[in-house]
Amino acid sequence: MPSALVFFNELSDVPSKAQRELLTLASRFDEATLAVASEVSQEAQEVVNGYGVAKLLVASGGDDAFIDHSLSVLEAAVKLSAADVVLVANDNFNREIAARLAVRLDGAVVTDATDVSADLVVTKDELAGSYSAQAKATSGTLFVTMKPNSIEDVPGEQDGQLDVLALELPGAAAPQIRVVATEAKAVSDRPKLTEARVVVAGGRGVNGDFGPVEDLADALSGAVGASRAATDAGWISHDAQIGQTGVTVSPQLFISAGISGAIQQKAGMQTSKCIIAINKDVDAPVFEIADFGIVGDLSKVLPQAAEEIRRRQA
Ligand SMILES: Cc1cc2nc3c(=O)[nH]c(=O)nc-3n(C[C@H](O)[C@H](O)[C@H](O)COP(=O)(O)OP(=O)(O)OC[C@H]3O[C@@H](n4cnc5c(N)ncnc54)[C@H](O)[C@@H]3O)c2cc1C
Repeated sequence: MPSALVFFNELSDVPSKAQRELLTLASRFDEATLAVASEVSQEAQEVVNGYGVAKLLVASGGDDAFIDHSLSVLEAAVKLSAADVVLVANDNFNREIAARLAVRLDGAVVTDATDVSADLVVTKDELAGSYSAQAKATSGTLFVTMKPNSIEDVPGEQDGQLDVLALELPGAAAPQIRVVATEAKAVSDRPKLTEARVVVAGGRGVNGDFGPVEDLADALSGAVGASRAATDAGWISHDAQIGQTGVTVSPQLFISAGISGAIQQKAGMQTSKCIIAINKDVDAPVFEIADFGIVGDLSKVLPQAAEEIRRRQA
């Protein structure tokens, strides 16, 4: 059976949900190795060991926050582990690393994957989730970028031996870009938009007031998203934009409020497991892909939904 290598740029004491999903997937293979491009605490080592990771390759000390150090780390880890499949997150940073290394090492890359079988058949979304395809590499190492929320995180209870090795980076080139200052963004208590199990998104129909959207998201412990019309209007940060030119989400539950459902918007959310659409126009295209539709005014529907959910939770 093939072996798997998982790569993280950083790993905190408590791995993120997307990272735990990758570790769960890797644990299905014969041998699972994890490579991390920065320090890994004892707490994090214990967590990854629980997922059956046998070898941890660590290469801290890269002083550039851009891609060179991560590329060198992953390249060295691929060569050392001789893994058949390399699993990384589906964000732009990791997609770029996977693509560049696949070219450099004469391997193959599959993005937007939702599963990888034991015989290395990759299931992936195509055309913004309109189709599901299966692909198999014909040669070289297979690099796969996994969509969050595709694999159920099954926390391991294995406590085998974890070999921690410092990864040697032969002839690492001096970074061409060095960060001279950073400013932390305000931290939100809500889950990350791309990883959340529940997303409540608002569009032009919120008419400048995201309060009811945020309130329902909080009642459901979900993340807040938006259409481009809402972000362009400055009602909410551009980070919240979902769609062709925004982020792609695939939560268990997506609630769309006051969004018409343009093709560019649907491209970012139509693989959600359950879609509930609230729109006052019965002919809005969003109803074509909704599992449940509510024809109504969101300023009435959203507060009622939040109130009822809190009443049932109490
Ligand atoms: C190249 C390109 C890329 C794009 N990328 C993206 C992208 O990534 N993401 C994205 O979202 N868009 C994107 N767009 C824009 C996209 O085409 C739409 O213009 C945009 O999605 C419309 O946003 P909206 O649905 O919020 O607004 P509208 O289309 O104006 O729809 C508003 C909806 O709200 C409903 N409504 C109004 N008031 C209420 C109320 N009180 N209660 C309930 N319903 C109400 C209306 O009936 C209407 O259906 C892109 C466009 C292009 C050309």
